[in-house]
Amino acid sequence: MGGGGGRGKRSVRGRATPSTTTAEEEEEEEEEKEEEGEGAVAIEEDEDEAKGELLQAAGVPQLQVRGTTHPRACQPSMTPWRLLRCCQWTAAWVPVLFIAVVICWSYYTFVVELCLFTIAAQQEEGKAAIYLVVFHLSFVLFMWSYWKTIFTPPVCPSKEFSLSQADEERYEKEERPEVQQEILKRVAKELPVYTLTSTRLIRYCEKCQLIKPDRCHHCSVCNKCVLKMDHHCPWVNNCVGFSNYKYFLLFLFYSLVYCILVTTTVLEYFIKFWTTNLKNTRAQFHVLFLFFVSTMFFISILSLFCYHLWLVGKNRTTIEAFRAPVFLNGPDKNGFSLGWSKNWRQVFGDEKKYWLFPIFTTLGDGVNFPTRLMMETEQVTGTNHHEHTRSSGSTQNFPVGPLSESKNFLLATGSDQDVRSGIKNHVTVSIES
Ligand SMILES: [Zn+2]
Ligand SMILES: [Zn+2]
Repeated sequence: MGGGGGRGKRSVRGRATPSTTTAEEEEEEEEEKEEEGEGAVAIEEDEDEAKGELLQAAGVPQLQVRGTTHPRACQPSMTPWRLLRCCQWTAAWVPVLFIAVVICWSYYTFVVELCLFTIAAQQEEGKAAIYLVVFHLSFVLFMWSYWKTIFTPPVCPSKEFSLSQADEERYEKEERPEVQQEILKRVAKELPVYTLTSTRLIRYCEKCQLIKPDRCHHCSVCNKCVLKMDHHCPWVNNCVGFSNYKYFLLFLFYSLVYCILVTTTVLEYFIKFWTTNLKNTRAQFHVLFLFFVSTMFFISILSLFCYHLWLVGKNRTTIEAFRAPVFLNGPDKNGFSLGWSKNWRQVFGDEKKYWLFPIFTTLGDGVNFPTRLMMETEQVTGTNHHEHTRSSGSTQNFPVGPLSESKNFLLATGSDQDVRSGIKNHVTVSIES
């Protein structure tokens, strides 16, 4: 990753074309490529600047790469490129639109066809009213968590993780990978970084030009590094990571509640339509499909929800479940696990009253994570920092919790002796307010 070989020329990897692989797979491939130093397209700076000026004058979008303006791609005509980007952007919203249409149709079927035209028409107004109240409660929570999952932007590492201008230039000019690593190690000494690449190198993103914080990964779809990245979800057209993982879990949970509610209430009338002389052809058609669709969604979401509950219990992201984070003493799938209860509170927070609402209560800042073993308290650079101060909020647009408090809380209140001993040597983090 970091030892990709020095390059006098700038490396721009424009992977804009969507592939059939998942974002995690792409991210994994990219990390491998970064380690091997492959997949880079070298662009001559001088030539590029001249092209950049011309394209800028023509109103073509530019990509800022390490202080130099590069055209997004070196196509002779940029119109097809813009058209392609536009198509990609539109295509990315298709799954979200599909879900939105299904939700709207299910709402119409339940409220209008079932409750108003079928149940209320049978002089069961009380029953219809109860159904409508319960349905709307679950509907609001479902839509609220879905909305928050879609529109909460993924959070990138703060500027402290970027190399300074001088280090950046030295890194670029340096031909020897081992010297490049030394530059990264020196910078990483000032950072709370405890995980390495599989080849025991500092995790460095060549695209974003920053040292990756623990659990942070580059998303090839969003084209940015995302804190505690879990996966890129096409159904919400967003990266699921530190800033919205709780919302994503609640979205799955309320989807299940919504599906159960719809399936169980519809079932009675689904049977009645076929066994009694209750006749309303249009309602019959909608109710029949609603029953099948909600059952189908329930089964598919249930398995995903159970899998994520298991991940929360183990304190792993989807990426970490497939590729264990590497610490100084080697890969450890349970490296961030503090026990089920603390793992749960790391995502959902300390206050139970907020657990079921899509409100940000996740503990920590997405950069510093308590680790399980004492051995991991030694930083990857070989230096143990007892105090690390970072400025908050440079790129973060979510409420950052008091990390020292939440971290100490997570580490200190359990009975696990490993965890207790870990706090003594683990890095203490404070956030300047
Ligand atoms: Zn990146
Ligand atoms: Zn993404």
